[in-house]
Amino acid sequence: MNFNDMEPAVPKVNKQTVSYLSTRFAEVGLNPNKRHGQNFLIDMNLLNMIASSAQLNRNDVVLEIGTGMGSLTGIFAQQAGQVITVEIDQYLHQMASEELEPFDNVLMLKQDCLKNKNSFAPEVIAAVQEHLAAVPGRVFKLAANLPYNVATPIISNLLRSEIVPETMTVTIQKELGDRLVAKPGSKDYGSLSVWVQSICDTRIVRVMSPKVFWPRPKVDSAIIHIIHRPEKRATIPDLGFFHAFVRAMFFHRRKYMRSVAVSAFKGQLEKQHVDEVLQACEHGPETRTEQLPIPVMQELCEAFRQKLIEVTGDPKPKLANQ
Ligand code: SAM
Repeated sequence: MNFNDMEPAVPKVNKQTVSYLSTRFAEVGLNPNKRHGQNFLIDMNLLNMIASSAQLNRNDVVLEIGTGMGSLTGIFAQQAGQVITVEIDQYLHQMASEELEPFDNVLMLKQDCLKNKNSFAPEVIAAVQEHLAAVPGRVFKLAANLPYNVATPIISNLLRSEIVPETMTVTIQKELGDRLVAKPGSKDYGSLSVWVQSICDTRIVRVMSPKVFWPRPKVDSAIIHIIHRPEKRATIPDLGFFHAFVRAMFFHRRKYMRSVAVSAFKGQLEKQHVDEVLQACEHGPETRTEQLPIPVMQELCEAFRQKLIEVTGDPKPKLANQ
């Protein structure tokens, strides 16, 4: 074998065990911070399962939210082209910097990944864009053990950002996972189910008990795999309007569709206009939103949008909550 042809050695990652984590925290005199959802995965098989479910390769730019101690980051860095990892906690950022020093394909950002509830931090988006542009053909993926308190805005805002990940492979609360895969009529079916499934395919990879985390959370967790489907997205004429429509329609999920629609379009459409739209819908005004399949929801949204265009003359109408 010609030794010049050999790949450079891949740096190793520390095993994230309870004793490793508690020692590291004790060294700096700190405890995991509940407010930031600091529950570390202590099962190496599951850490590897997140990476293998994300199907990483050297073409990928991986965004990780929540560097933590850097163990999952290191596994991603061994497989991906570039990892961008974001950590809000300055002490963890510092500790992880030491762990990740041997990797030259990891960019660490010390900041909140969200600008606010409705948008992603522009610095994070800019860093991803820069690394995608650096090499032609690069693919953007999100992979992480997400902080549970901000998992919904992270997923939801990324789907509306200018750079949508091809896949998202993340650990979240099981209850949120159930909502992301829920079907019409089930108790978990809601605005998030409709919004995400309208533009993506969703699948629960694995349910996990609190035992695989340190400290243990109070609830079960799940690894979820979300695949962005641009062909689904292309069938929605105005994505912002659709997002606002779905949220408005599920605001009172148990009420009849007519009364929900009347209040959603208050000040924009008369009751008579709402009735005209609903008469054309096969499910009728006495259906509850929670029973509507996604294609019907999309059809209904478009019918209301067209009615608003007709009534207001505005070619790009907005909903009150948009
Ligand atoms: N990746 C590590 C692991 O797998 O063990 C840690 C995951 S822990 C569930 C979530 C991490 O996200 C914590 O380190 C926490 O400090 C960080 N975090 C919480 N909110 C954040 C935010 N808004 N932006 C960036 N990081 C955040």
